[in-house]
Amino acid sequence: MKPKIAIFSLTGCEGCSLAILELEDQLLDILGAVEIVNFREGMTERSWDIDIGFVDGAVSTPEDEKEIIRFRESCKTLVAIGSCACLGGINTLKNYQPEDEYRRYVYGDKAIWFPTIAARALSAVVKVDYELPGCPMIKEEFVRFVKCMLTGRPFELPDYAVCVECKKKGNLCLYEKGVICLGPVTRAGCDAICPSFGSKCEGCRGILGHEALCAAGVNLREQYDVSLDDVLADFRLFGAYQEKDLP
Ligand code: SF4
Ligand code: SF4
Ligand code: SF4
Repeated sequence: MKPKIAIFSLTGCEGCSLAILELEDQLLDILGAVEIVNFREGMTERSWDIDIGFVDGAVSTPEDEKEIIRFRESCKTLVAIGSCACLGGINTLKNYQPEDEYRRYVYGDKAIWFPTIAARALSAVVKVDYELPGCPMIKEEFVRFVKCMLTGRPFELPDYAVCVECKKKGNLCLYEKGVICLGPVTRAGCDAICPSFGSKCEGCRGILGHEALCAAGVNLREQYDVSLDDVLADFRLFGAYQEKDLP
């Protein structure tokens, strides 16, 4: 029996769901190995008998809260895909603004029609079995995850920093040019795509644990006279919800 797969979206741009449709060549192989039973972006049929449910977007409205509980109850395995679902992502920027102001800014005099709550990661509301972070999620990581699930192999995210991948590619470190980059404190797995194209890492795959943060803080102070506070100043774009976990 093929595993029954569903793909759901909460508050976000749905770019991570779209990334699945963009798999092109690999999509046909995946479709041969699984049965997609619920995917609003890709089909009209709906089934709630689900083995693995993938969810993008953050919990950011009262409706999202109800939906994620329904998804959890319907899926044997629940997987958060993308920064919004895994970390709260850019949605959590609103948590630091006065609610009246951002609602009026976005919706004007129609704000009353759009109830909102503080944005959170899925794991703040329900148990999440796996997380595939990134904005958008990394397609190759999604394929690796599906293969692990189909073959019964364990799946783990890289537990080292983006800098490792960046060094392997032979990039000149942006700190040498005076640019602060979140690579030393961010989880690898994106093949250091941003610094490879000359842009600083903005931490879309989430921050590593306290130990890595403290080690990076010491190294950056010693090598470049940069404090960890300066590094983390950029961190709120994707990581505002993670701030409670910082030292
Ligand atoms: S993580 Fe990025 S691409 Fe994915 S839904 Fe959120 S904003 Fe869109
Ligand atoms: S550019 Fe960024 S990711 Fe690359 S080595 Fe330097 S700090 Fe690390
Ligand atoms: S380099 Fe940083 S911001 Fe860019 S994709 Fe990787 S984790 Fe995200």
